[in-house]
Amino acid sequence: MRFADITGQEELKRQLVRSIDAGRVSHALLLGGRSGAGILPLAVAFLQYLNCRHRRDGDSCGTCPDCLRIASLEHPDLHLVFPVNRQGKKSGEAMRSDEFLPLFRKLFAERRGWVSPQQWYDRLDLGRTLRGMIAAREADEIIRKLSFKSFEADYKTMLVWLPEAMNEGAANKILKILEEPWERTLFLLVSERPDRLLPTILSRTQQIHVPPLRPEVLAQYAQRHGVADTAEAHRRARLAGGDLIALEHLLAGTDDARRREDFELFRTLMRLSYNDRHLELIGPRRRRNSRASSSAASCGAPRACCARASCSTPAWNASATCGARSSPSARNSHPSSDPATSRPWWRRSNRPWPRFPRTGTRLSYSPISLSR
Ligand SMILES: [Zn+2]
Repeated sequence: MRFADITGQEELKRQLVRSIDAGRVSHALLLGGRSGAGILPLAVAFLQYLNCRHRRDGDSCGTCPDCLRIASLEHPDLHLVFPVNRQGKKSGEAMRSDEFLPLFRKLFAERRGWVSPQQWYDRLDLGRTLRGMIAAREADEIIRKLSFKSFEADYKTMLVWLPEAMNEGAANKILKILEEPWERTLFLLVSERPDRLLPTILSRTQQIHVPPLRPEVLAQYAQRHGVADTAEAHRRARLAGGDLIALEHLLAGTDDARRREDFELFRTLMRLSYNDRHLELIGPRRRRNSRASSSAASCGAPRACCARASCSTPAWNASATCGARSSPSARNSHPSSDPATSRPWWRRSNRPWPRFPRTGTRLSYSPISLSR
């Protein structure tokens, strides 16, 4: 990957080239900024320029074996570390970046280096909540790899993508190498959140801030990728906020789908609140344990309002449309009701709950109300 292949960041590219030309390369560099500002492609272009033997016009040649192998992340002297994880991972199971390297290379090539953490976690199929991490055992592996002599290049390079995903054990081990670096070893940390790194790591690295992309650069990108109208291109560039990956989402319309999904979730939460079903907002475990909701919870479908097999009314809309809710037997069969008293399990008496005002400005529920 040549500097010329990267959108924007012209001033920063010149600064990086000047530092290599002048032989002023620190043994530990930290590129900090958003993924959509180009931190990862800039890091790879920097390494390619550093190792290229036929540099010209302030850029790498892009055709020599070193350039080609660094661009595809396959150079023997380029070691990569990035956060990894797996659904259903056993406790204590150690995972290393090397196991996922082919997958990472594939995503890197598809995205031309513009990879966000979320895209990587989606590729690992981690779901909505699981995140990748860099474990202490990975740090041992880093030390082992860097203890070897370089194969071909002048520098052995350790590229750590998202070092903020390191746990404390890993960070402390890395710290030792940063304090006493081996000869001709380059550490390149590429971080979205440098503020989450240990101060002792920050103090041992040369920090380079990668600013957001300029709106005019993004507008030109939008025009090159199908937005003919100049005003519309500038509008989308402004919405992207200096982030090329966000702009690509906007151009592809994937943000619309995500926004719709968030709005659906918000609407469901509001309806549960309005129907005084507050514990369903916070009690997923209770619902999982309940009889009728177990199948719905496992498939992600909305829970039916009563125990009838044919009922398809979601719980939050039960009183409005489900006829079975009006009969006492159906109420008793409701999973969140106590069969003996026909009260919900969390109600101690039949005393009516105060309702939220329809147009109230403030919800004034206090925990004390629960003990009545
Ligand atoms: Zn080259």
